[in-house]
Amino acid sequence: MSLKIIIIGGGIGGTAAALALLRASFDVRVYEQVAAKTEVGAGIQLSPNATRLLQRYGLGEALKLRGVRPDAIEVRRWQDGATLSLEPLGDTIEQSYGAPYYHIHRADLLSVLSSALPAGVLQTGRRCMGATQTDGGVRATFEDGSHAEGDVLVGADGIHSTVRRVLFGEERPRFSGNIAYRGLAPAERIAHLGVRRNSTNWMGPGGHFVHYFVAGGKFLNFVAVSEQSSWERESWTDRGRIEDARRCYAGWHPQIHAILDAVDETFKWALFDRAPLERWSAGRITLLGDACHPMLPYMAQGAAQSIEDGASLAACLAGVSRSDIAPALQRYEALRKPRTASIQAAARGNSITFHLPDGSQQQARDAAMKAQGDLSPRRAAIFGFDAGMI
Ligand SMILES: Cc1cc2nc3c(=O)[nH]c(=O)nc-3n(C[C@H](O)[C@H](O)[C@H](O)COP(=O)(O)OP(=O)(O)OC[C@H]3O[C@@H](n4cnc5c(N)ncnc54)[C@H](O)[C@@H]3O)c2cc1C
Repeated sequence: MSLKIIIIGGGIGGTAAALALLRASFDVRVYEQVAAKTEVGAGIQLSPNATRLLQRYGLGEALKLRGVRPDAIEVRRWQDGATLSLEPLGDTIEQSYGAPYYHIHRADLLSVLSSALPAGVLQTGRRCMGATQTDGGVRATFEDGSHAEGDVLVGADGIHSTVRRVLFGEERPRFSGNIAYRGLAPAERIAHLGVRRNSTNWMGPGGHFVHYFVAGGKFLNFVAVSEQSSWERESWTDRGRIEDARRCYAGWHPQIHAILDAVDETFKWALFDRAPLERWSAGRITLLGDACHPMLPYMAQGAAQSIEDGASLAACLAGVSRSDIAPALQRYEALRKPRTASIQAAARGNSITFHLPDGSQQQARDAAMKAQGDLSPRRAAIFGFDAGMI
């Protein structure tokens, strides 16, 4: 009989892992705390290392329909809009890495992932409160008093993971000192700006501003990051005020203000990460995605890495007997940790590089970007990787 795998958390990481594990013929259940999954209006960038896996799960056409294929990644200067680097995506990247780069609305991505799951796999309205294990199996308990039993338990329950806390104790993530306003500007309201179909990152003192089209080009998604010394509210995502976002970009290029002016609502996020964890697994229980390697979004890789985790996990568990689960999870962790830790570190590094005040360091950064682009040296290592091949 195939192993029964319980996944806690039906976000991008949990649902993608379920698809990878089902494909390897495991018996899988995903338990998601929210009754009906909704996503704040926001987009996500999906690089070839993630789309390659999603295509393998049969989602290529669905992604093509819902995603926008950007032409290039462009870095611009905050004040005058000068282009610091422009690297092709589109056909170039698809030919180089055998899989496309997409911009997609999060709700669309989640819908593509969850609708590919057979009926009954995703159980919503099930909030996990605890997880235990014996030599013979695992057990998750839920807020409604119910429980589920299986052979392996995977915590894909995000940065505030309950499963992580059960395994390794309470430890709060680190507030990065950065906050992000996110929102969607209807394309017709910004048509006069002639915004290119790129992933555009404006860099300036103490902040950066990223935008790209989603939802078949109907909306321009933006992520506006600025520095703030503290975050007091318990909730880590909140409705934000557009005028506050605008204030963070005083003196920046008029295009940024025109985009903010076109938005009806914005959400404000505190950005947290963690230092790499020493361990992800204990016995038959392991973690994936933001539960074990939350990262600042400055490499646009958090979701991609959670998708990779699921592929590697399925490959490590394939063909494993019930008595060999713990070593298989150790192998998964050993494979994934160096890669995710290096991307976590790179994302932290970008929180400084992206936000340099004008001066000699900024000039050196801009010169380096002009010479070699923002991505080229790390592109091959990140985009060319196939997490399912171990
Ligand atoms: C501003 C911003 C921009 C980003 N841009 C990008 C990008 O362009 N590209 C990219 O790859 N990544 C990006 N990321 C990162 C990406 O969003 C995350 O890394 C990714 O969503 C992590 O997925 P996950 O499934 O691990 O966690 P989550 O998305 O947090 O999902 C966890 C799920 O678990 C559920 N859950 C939690 N606790 C329980 C419980 N006790 N019981 C049951 N269910 C539970 C939650 O409801 C949720 O559905 C960005 C992040 C931010 C903040």
